Amino acid sequence: MKVEIISTGTELLLGEILNTNFTYLATQLNRRGYDVLYESTVGDNPGRLKAVLAHAASRADIVITSGGLGPTRGDLTKELVAEYCGLPMHTDDAVQAQIAAFFARRRITPTHNNDKQALVPDGATVLWNDVGTAPGIALEHGGTTFILLPGPPSELQHMCEHQVFPYLERRFGNLGLIQSHTLKVRGLTESGVAELLDDLILAQSNPTIALYARHGDILVRLTAKAEGKAEAERLIDGVRKVVEQRLGVHVYGCDDENEAQVLGRLLAQRHQTIACAESCTGGLATSLLTDVPGSSEYVMGSVVSYTNEVKHRVLGVRQESLDAYGAVSSQVACEMAKGVRRVMRTDVGIGITGIAGPGGGTSEKPVGLVYIAVADARGVVWKRCQWNGSRESNKLRSAVTALGLAYDRLTGIDRVDGVVAQEMAH
Ligand code: AMP
Ligand code: MG
Repeated sequence: MKVEIISTGTELLLGEILNTNFTYLATQLNRRGYDVLYESTVGDNPGRLKAVLAHAASRADIVITSGGLGPTRGDLTKELVAEYCGLPMHTDDAVQAQIAAFFARRRITPTHNNDKQALVPDGATVLWNDVGTAPGIALEHGGTTFILLPGPPSELQHMCEHQVFPYLERRFGNLGLIQSHTLKVRGLTESGVAELLDDLILAQSNPTIALYARHGDILVRLTAKAEGKAEAERLIDGVRKVVEQRLGVHVYGCDDENEAQVLGRLLAQRHQTIACAESCTGGLATSLLTDVPGSSEYVMGSVVSYTNEVKHRVLGVRQESLDAYGAVSSQVACEMAKGVRRVMRTDVGIGITGIAGPGGGTSEKPVGLVYIAVADARGVVWKRCQWNGSRESNKLRSAVTALGLAYDRLTGIDRVDGVVAQEMAH
């Protein structure tokens, strides 16, 4: 079933807002087996909108519009679709009553132009709007199904869930469901993963297996097609177990799980605790850790050691190290990690020191140079990073990398630049 989505609104063409309605509709429709083949964006202009409607109807089975159902003169979609289909409009009493009730609940007097929202093309199906005033419209004309949806994302999504997807299923039947899950892999190259999964990839049909790289991680996407969600999940689960078995600890998360969540999960499982000594990240690594509900179980506390004095006095970084190597050095990062682990009495200590920029760099230690260290009972490992982004992005990448390094250390995926192996009692 070929779908074209038409996004209306001059603000989209001016680049003022992101077209999240398209993202939502495309994701949901593809998942339900519809082929989203075209997307058009058009301003609030009658001539151009009509031309886009005609073009869409000529090449798609289903045309879905977003926006332009409001009460103002700039809202043209319904009028133009009715005109295109040659359908007169009538005032729908039930819609008018619903709009009146909507305003009454908010103790607002509707203005005259709200009457326009109760107009429905003859023969169309009303898609009720439970969270706003503009109803949606579904109508069939000349072999094309037109679905008209309001612009505000919360209204559009609510209407899709409750009216549009059921309407499409009644109209076109169950086209099957496509479900994906993405496993995140650390510490292996894309070709390394491909080799480990070679026979599975060769034999794949349903679910399919796709590999791609993103921000230094390898992603393994498993996609299944089935009648319904439960069946799709079952198919994915079977392959997922095999993939996880092959890749072992290198699989660190699934879908939207982030470094803070997976590190937290591991610490909680092992009943271990963590603390951070943060210089250039100013507490961001700790903030990410504590974004995870339940993190009080394993985050003991942290030290934002922005100055050399605090590094020395609070964390016990040796003055000689600061003098000899400078605050941004592997030696100081390691002593910070060890120090915070001792001061906070944790199993794991993280140390982060670097130059976030935009100023403060030298030819020897350029902006974006960051040393990250992780200390545990076995010793300290460290990593040297060179970022090239803004201050904000350098801080974020440093914090995320530090959490990743701690995860790697705990799971034994060591990808470090140096190890200071010494037994470390508190
Ligand atoms: P409209 O129904 O065209 O008056 O749109 C109402 C509001 O919905 C706009 O002001 C936007 O804030 C939002 N909106 C419209 N279209 C989109 C879209 N494609 N993606 C995200 N938001 C949108
Ligand atoms: Mg608009």
